[in-house]
Amino acid sequence: MEKLAVIAIALATLLWIAWPLMKVTGSETRRCPSCGAPYKPGDKYCSRCGRKLPKGEQR
Ligand SMILES: [Zn+2]
Repeated sequence: MEKLAVIAIALATLLWIAWPLMKVTGSETRRCPSCGAPYKPGDKYCSRCGRKLPKGEQR
């Protein structure tokens, strides 16, 4: 049973990492300078690591 838990956690972690990457292939994206997670222009803080995000920079 413990093995199952470990696998589940590993899978969840993988998804957590891969999800934003999959979502963002190609088009313009802003990424958290700290953890690399993509974020929306209006966001002030990274939804993943909580770091304050740079503002503006519109292209
Ligand atoms: Zn972050």
